[in-house]
Amino acid sequence: MEDHGGPVPAGLAVEVTANTCRMRGTDHASPRCAALTGRIGVQVACGIYEWRPNPCRELEPGSDACRRARMRHGLAPLPA
Ligand code: SF4
Repeated sequence: MEDHGGPVPAGLAVEVTANTCRMRGTDHASPRCAALTGRIGVQVACGIYEWRPNPCRELEPGSDACRRARMRHGLAPLPA
């Protein structure tokens, strides 16, 4: 997050510990990142794509984590 020298705008992140932050909204009962725009399952985009945090950069389309995230929203896995 910006306050810690990172690229993510401070208003979109929440400090969890002195060394850890999470995107605002991702700890809600029905999680949704505050930077996500659009409608899940129809069309979405990252509102801070150029400044997104490392975990977002590291997630590979079609990976197990991607498949699990899609399943949580009732979406089929990406085609191989
Ligand atoms: S890629 Fe963007 S919208 Fe998706 S979780 Fe990361 S910051 Fe949020």
